[in-house]
Amino acid sequence: MALRNIVLETDPLIRKTSRPVDEITPRIIKLLDDMAETMYFENRGIGIAAPQVGVLRRVFVVDVGDEHGLIEFINPEITYRSGAQVYCEGCLSLPGKSADVERPEVIRIKALDRNGNEFELEADGLLAICICHEYDHLDGILFTDKAIDGVVNVQPQE
Ligand code: ZN
Repeated sequence: MALRNIVLETDPLIRKTSRPVDEITPRIIKLLDDMAETMYFENRGIGIAAPQVGVLRRVFVVDVGDEHGLIEFINPEITYRSGAQVYCEGCLSLPGKSADVERPEVIRIKALDRNGNEFELEADGLLAICICHEYDHLDGILFTDKAIDGVVNVQPQE
């Protein structure tokens, strides 16, 4: 495994639309492993999407610290959204920035796992928020685009 460099907001790549994975090759498996390692490094994040490490593929991983642990999504599709919740979000690609964003309270998502098997998951609370945030990255959408009243908080960087 290896740490990958995080693509920042200033890089036009972060705004691109990612393509589906046609075949789960060893390269995709390595991508998943590296993304998890990069996400866990110094407890930096609870989710990371492939475009954030410069790979324009429809892949993301999350671990919000609940009983699910690490979940890997390949070619995900959100099939159901219900309710609303507001949470102050941040992003590895936008260090120091945060904003209140409204997301569904409950979602259902289907995707492939690393073995190519389709699974479906129902999520609520923070897991639903995190999945929606990462899913947006696959279409070049950042949480700041959805900031309530356009308010983005900025912390000075060290
Ligand atoms: Zn993000």
